[in-house]
Amino acid sequence: MKARYKKKSGQFQKIARERIEILFEQADLKFKEDSNLSDRYVELARKISMKYKVRIPKELKRRFCKHCYKFLVPGVNCRVRNNDSKIVYSCFNCKKFMRFPLK
Ligand SMILES: [Zn+2]
Repeated sequence: MKARYKKKSGQFQKIARERIEILFEQADLKFKEDSNLSDRYVELARKISMKYKVRIPKELKRRFCKHCYKFLVPGVNCRVRNNDSKIVYSCFNCKKFMRFPLK
């Protein structure tokens, strides 16, 4: 019984991860038309991630501000800089920074 439950929840997580990816894709597509919609998609993706305890993939974590949760587009509402061994994103909305290690 336990094994079956585990498998099932694994399937939910797989679907949840796919939905998160789709939401970020849509956020990217809609940004030019309506950036508020992109922010909504980020919010939805975060909710799914919390509900199903699925981590937002590393590469997608760079697409939104971890402080104000705005969808970020480099050169439009954030700036990206390489700083030593890190990539630094500065959000124009909340003026805060996010740092990611450079591989
Ligand atoms: Zn921000």
